[in-house]
This record gives sequence, structure tokens and C-alpha cells, in this order.
Amino acid sequence: MAVSRATDATESRCIYLDNASTTRVWPQVLETMARMLREDYGNPSSRHHLGAQAREAVEEARGRVAALVGAPPSCIYFTGSATEANNLAILGTAYQHRRQGRHLVATAIEHPSVLEPLRALEQEGFEVSLVRPGPDGVVSPDDVAAALRPDTILVSVMTVNNEVGSVQPVEAIVRAVRATAPHALVHSDMVQAAGKLPVDVRALGLDLASLSAHKLHGPKGIGALYVRTGVRLRPIVWGGGQERGVRSGTENVPAIAGFGVAAAIARAALPETVARLRGLMRRLREGLREAYPEVAPLGPQDEARRAPHILAAAFPGLRAEVLASHLDQQEGVAVSIGAACSSHKTRTSHVLEAMEVPPALAASAVRISLGLMTTEEEVDAAIRRIGSAARDLKAFLASGGRRGARA
Ligand code: PLP
Repeated sequence: MAVSRATDATESRCIYLDNASTTRVWPQVLETMARMLREDYGNPSSRHHLGAQAREAVEEARGRVAALVGAPPSCIYFTGSATEANNLAILGTAYQHRRQGRHLVATAIEHPSVLEPLRALEQEGFEVSLVRPGPDGVVSPDDVAAALRPDTILVSVMTVNNEVGSVQPVEAIVRAVRATAPHALVHSDMVQAAGKLPVDVRALGLDLASLSAHKLHGPKGIGALYVRTGVRLRPIVWGGGQERGVRSGTENVPAIAGFGVAAAIARAALPETVARLRGLMRRLREGLREAYPEVAPLGPQDEARRAPHILAAAFPGLRAEVLASHLDQQEGVAVSIGAACSSHKTRTSHVLEAMEVPPALAASAVRISLGLMTTEEEVDAAIRRIGSAARDLKAFLASGGRRGARA
């Protein structure tokens, strides 16, 4: 593969390849949010014209977010984050349906905002079964079916794993649940899938789905939960009855409007986004292999089973935190060590552990993630910088850490 020559601008700029952690907002998102803060600052519950304007902005955004995932607008509830949406899906189902059963199923590779509420429920006497993935980070529908029981009330399976980018067979899992445990609800954390892959909550047959604005070039601190018509949840935040009683609290109108703009852009760009990100990802994977042949991509090897924007790459013999920090400080490339939310912790990633990646290899894995603003030039410059950083660190280690070998 011919890696294009970088321009001076790319050589000096920081290359942001941590888009699975968060993304930069589109200028249109910023403009909309600034207008909502400056001029259209009403409370949607107020009866005057400013309130009506704010209400209109919230409903417009609801329609845009719904359209991104094929949902009716009335099924979208705004929350303070996807963490809250996941908590609401899990706790809200458990507390609403505890008389029907006390067993919940999830995959072992879910985000902590799914695993932690499940752990909290276990302390209250609920039972939880975690289904392990294969070595590629993909869960089998048969394994999910085998975990189901007559008292199962919820199955939670993420659409795209945030650490390795594996795409889960959600549709087949929904079918398996309907056949074996028809009373159970099915929830999917779609945070890493929405805007990167076509997703349709109705075609998939889901009951619940979580979304986050800041992963798709919208603002932080705003999420949404899709709740299929007819599904009832016990709220986890009580108060003035906003969001039709499902999530009280004055609506974060600027963030909701910003989410709407980001969702509309993501939806309009989707076919092009998938093709573009796939192209950039192929370029990245091939380029890294040429620049540093020992690199070992983790997760599915089959392109159809992985998201187009996330690459977990192991650099055998190196330590991920040393490589990531060298890349950040010496090379101006921002990547992360596993998931951003857990990268400050030193323990092994629960995802790589569940995939049975050998601990030494897991400790050498960094996550490189692309966004809608990532360019070919940036990918090429990142390949050069990552290759050179890995070679330098390897030489440094081979020299026994002697001065002269750059680290
Ligand atoms: N679910 C997944 C798969 C994620 O990657 C994240 C963010 O890292 C979340 C949930 C939480 O999203 P938020 O930052 O909106 O709470």
C-alpha cells in the first residue's frame, strides 16, 4: 500500500484517534447549542412562547434521534447519558417486572454501565448470567439461548463492543429470546453502533436501546433510551414528570438540540460514512502491518463482523500504557488503552479477559478509533508515527533500557 506523503499541517497537528471515547462536535451542533443557550433558553414546561420554542426544539431533536435508529419519535426518552440510559433499561426493567422473574442475562463484554447495575441487582437477590464471547469477541446466539430460563426478564446485548469493535448478532439473539423466553425484554447498548452502521430497532425487534450523543459528534452529557411502545419501566429518577414520567428533570435543551443535529448529520451521511470508515480502517490495518509487522489486531478478523471505526491492536512485548503515552507526548497521536472509562485503572480489560486473550498480549493492546472527521492523511501520518514509536520502544527494551536507544 502506498502511504501518502503527509502535509506539514498533518505532521505538526495532534492526530485524534480516540473517537470511541468521545468525538469533536460538528460546527452546526455548536451553533445550535449556542443559540439555545443565548436566545431560545426557555424551559419546555413553561407555557409562554419561550417554553413553546424549547418544547419544539426538543421534539424536533426527538424526531431526528428516532430517525437515526428507525424508531417512532414517541419511543425516544432523553437521559443524562448513555450510562443513565443503560441503568434505566436494566434497573427499570428489573423493578417493573420483578414479579415475573428475577433472572437477567447479559454478555460478559458489556460496558460497565450495564454490568454495574446488574451487579447491584445481584446484591438485591436478582440472579445474573453473563454469556462469554468467542475469542473474536462475538457472542453466539446459541450460548445466549442456553442461558435463558423461564424466569428471565431481560437480555442485554450490545450491538458493537467499545473495546474491540466486534458486532454482535443482535437480530439472531432477539429471535432466540422470542422462541425460548417470550416474556423477556431485549435491550441493546447501541452507543458504538449508531451513526457508524445502519441500525433499525424495529427491524431488529428490540424492546430497549441506548444511545449517546458524544460518540457521534454531538455534545457530552446527553443520551437517549428507545422504549418500544407497550414496554413499561419503573423510573430511576423521580421528580416533575418530564419525559412522560420516565425521566424527570428539566430537559437539557441545548444538549438535546445538539444531539438532534448530530443525529441528522449522522443519518444523512451514513452510507458514505460506512464506506469511508471501512476504507480508512483497511488502510490503517494494512499500513500498521507494514510499519510494524509484529502488530496483532484483536477481535473479529472478518470485516463483516466488526465495526468500521474501532481497532484493538496488540504490540507484543510492549506495554500499552507506555506506547500510548509515548504516542501522546512524543508523536502527537491520541489513542487509548482499552476503553477510556477504564483506562485509568490498571486491571486487565474485562473484554480481553472474556475473549481469553493471553494477559501479556492484552497488556500490550491499544485502541485506535476513527471518527467522521478522520482523514486519509491523518491515518497515514498516524501509521508512520505509531510504527516509529513501536520500533523505538522495542529498540529501547532490546538495549536493556540504555540511553541512546530512544524511548
Ligand atoms: N456504552 C458504551 C458501549 C460506551 O462505549 C459508552 C461510553 O464509553 C457508554 C455506554 C457510556 O456512554 P456515556 O458516556 O454517554 O455515559
